[in-house]
Amino acid sequence: MSSSLYSDLIKTINTQQKIIFYLLLQLSSIYANSKAPKLTDIADLDYQKLTVDELPKVVETEKLDYKNLLEEHLIQTGKPLKPVKRHASSKTVDTTVCCPHCQAPSDFLYLNNGQADNDQYRCKVCNTLFNHKNRFLKEITLKCPHCNDSLVKIKQRKGFSIHKCRSTDCPYYQKRLKGLSKKELKAFQKNKTLFKMHYIYRDFELSLAELEDTPDYKSPVQLKNVNCSPHVLGLILTYHVNYGMSGEKTAALLYDVHQLKISGQTIRNYARSVAHLVRPMTDYYPYELSDQFCGDETYIRVQGKWHYIYFFFDAEKKIILSHRYNRHRDTQTAIKAIHDVVRRFEQVPDNLKLIVDGNPIYKLAEAFYAQNGIGFEVIQVIGLTNKDAVSKEYRPLKQIIERLNRTFKANYKPLGGFNSEAGPLAHVTLFTTFFNFLRPHSSLEKGRVPVILPELEACEDMPQKWIKLLQLSEQFIKEKQAI
Ligand SMILES: [Zn+2]
Ligand SMILES: [Zn+2]
Repeated sequence: MSSSLYSDLIKTINTQQKIIFYLLLQLSSIYANSKAPKLTDIADLDYQKLTVDELPKVVETEKLDYKNLLEEHLIQTGKPLKPVKRHASSKTVDTTVCCPHCQAPSDFLYLNNGQADNDQYRCKVCNTLFNHKNRFLKEITLKCPHCNDSLVKIKQRKGFSIHKCRSTDCPYYQKRLKGLSKKELKAFQKNKTLFKMHYIYRDFELSLAELEDTPDYKSPVQLKNVNCSPHVLGLILTYHVNYGMSGEKTAALLYDVHQLKISGQTIRNYARSVAHLVRPMTDYYPYELSDQFCGDETYIRVQGKWHYIYFFFDAEKKIILSHRYNRHRDTQTAIKAIHDVVRRFEQVPDNLKLIVDGNPIYKLAEAFYAQNGIGFEVIQVIGLTNKDAVSKEYRPLKQIIERLNRTFKANYKPLGGFNSEAGPLAHVTLFTTFFNFLRPHSSLEKGRVPVILPELEACEDMPQKWIKLLQLSEQFIKEKQAI
């Protein structure tokens, strides 16, 4: 090779390297400035701290009686305990306020500070300090199951509060301390928040009873009130739902191909009515399930902001069980989405496993259900590569739900975002109905649909299938209402 060709090649390679470097810079800046939410970007992402501890001891606060205390005082000191003496100019204590611990009346209460809306009081009889807000609270005390010390509320998060045993004599803490390696101990001494060392209890505001309210089988819409022929409605649903075409595109297609004049807004209205109608059957159909479920969140754009859809999915039967929609990614919605899975079992199977991403909300949801006597295992597949054995074993399941998410996104994208919250609710319901009952799935035997309804098999084409499905939904609602 001639030396001039050689140097030319090196020059070219150098130029190319510069271009690649420049493109990488551009790419990273595009990524950094992208407004799409990053699903791994979570401030609380600290798995080690999310271990679930056993339940605390719940102790009813011992109630004292101020009359007995006054008597005791008299016996011990020989003098009666007198009410609080107040200066003529000082603020009086409202007569409706009494000590939450011993019921001493207002005469025995010192006013600790004079702030108008948050008065703090001290009881002269039992020495309890309380304020206007918590004067009725504190009927119970939470105690550490390891050392019996009272737990201290350290944080209020959305939907739950965190209570901690602060004692360093606690056997739980001592055991953790001994379990640290020399290196970890050094790191811990430098930064005390690095490891979860203390017993923690999360007190959820949500109760299981609230989740178990009876399903709403009432539909505000009846098929006969939809103002177009069944065949046209079937066409609209096929274009709009199966092919994910926007209202406007569906309207254009109906006009160009079928000479039908229907506006994009009318199509969206129809879609909402149909979503109401099919929702009871889609959500409460007695699906035959496996014991492998996976969950994931995806985001959609509503009124220019990113909102979330939570899916739970039977990985084997390819059935969508939960399609919760929320503005936020929070623990309460994760709890509700998991409820859509567990409510289907009369008895939750012993080996029930939920495969999810690394989002801590699922671990917190697991803690919530454990507290309510419902046990299952949350398996988190973290990151993009199989750094641990768990990720390796369960990644295929994770990929299954990621595929579902891609299918949903591909279906939703052409719609180009929603301008009200009713839009995504209707769309995700219709998508779920389509996915479970109408959409052939390549990984199922002979590419069949996940849930086979014989009545649909008999239909000739997709518009007819939709209409049949709507009739079955009406029938489903009627049967449920009759029970
Ligand atoms: Zn008192
Ligand atoms: Zn303790």
